[in-house]
Amino acid sequence: MLYYHIIPLSFIDEISVMMKRKGHLPKIIAGIAMIVGVNSASQADVVTSIKPLGFIAAAIAQGVTPVKVVLPDGASEHDYALRPSDVRLIQKADLLVWVGPEMESFITRSASQLPINKNLELTALPAIHSHLVGEIEDDHDHDLSDRDTLSSSNSTDREQSDSHSHQGTYNMHIWLSPEMALLSATAIHDRLVQSMPAEKAKLDRNLSQFTVNLEHADKEIRQQLMTVKDKRYYVFHDAYTYFEQHYGLSPLGYFTVNPEIQPGAQKLHEIRTQLTEHNAQCVFAEPQFRPAVIDAVSRGTQVKKGTLDPLGTNISLSQDSYVKFLLQLSSQYLSCLKPMN
Ligand SMILES: [Zn+2]
Repeated sequence: MLYYHIIPLSFIDEISVMMKRKGHLPKIIAGIAMIVGVNSASQADVVTSIKPLGFIAAAIAQGVTPVKVVLPDGASEHDYALRPSDVRLIQKADLLVWVGPEMESFITRSASQLPINKNLELTALPAIHSHLVGEIEDDHDHDLSDRDTLSSSNSTDREQSDSHSHQGTYNMHIWLSPEMALLSATAIHDRLVQSMPAEKAKLDRNLSQFTVNLEHADKEIRQQLMTVKDKRYYVFHDAYTYFEQHYGLSPLGYFTVNPEIQPGAQKLHEIRTQLTEHNAQCVFAEPQFRPAVIDAVSRGTQVKKGTLDPLGTNISLSQDSYVKFLLQLSSQYLSCLKPMN
């Protein structure tokens, strides 16, 4: 792939100033060599498993190298099978960025075939791993369709739970944590600096810009969500724990840990009871999952229906797409949770 780098005017000015002086020829040659070096070093793709990691990578790789995403819009991060073209994309990647085998099991095999310096498994990094929290332990009502799917804060149910539990597994939706997003951005930056040292200055600037943008968005979101932090609600799938903990939101629970698996009748009854008891404001579906269960539990109650998009499906990759994604999520919470006037 060819890249056309626009040489900044300031750089051209600098060269012409240098040329007017004597004894600066080596510097000029070094300057030109740098431009040539930039072009040859940039023939690399960053490939990410899912779109939000693409948002983060795009911020860091802006003006340096293209970023591509494996998971198509509308597909679930929990259930996907690689197409032959995806496999080729990963094989050719200069850097593959993914969460880890507990999240994108569909990528594990292709990732293991890459050289270690091209395979960035984020949750394998100690700095990120130390931020992981366990999945909230499930309760089980022995309804077959409920297996592996449900959460509850009800202690009686917990005591009755069977031998199976999610203890020892982590919530892997790390892209919904601003802290872990920054750690991921830093890790991507470091890997790209290693493989493209000539681009270090640009990569450094991109990381600084990402950090500043993220701090601004973080403050704005904190302010926005402050007004609804005591509102109770249910989310469709267990994706939002890091975001909710970071901004102090008050979820009642989730319907399922895997959007492909629907909760059973007994669980739905329990959710409905909790919605009423806690005077809940909202149940949230997702753009690609608008299950009938959402309508079923909210029917005949005052509970509103909202939408949360954990993957930013309608956002395209750009330098500020990650921040857009967080702000969109915040406004999705807000639009359903804020009191009606
Ligand atoms: Zn998920």
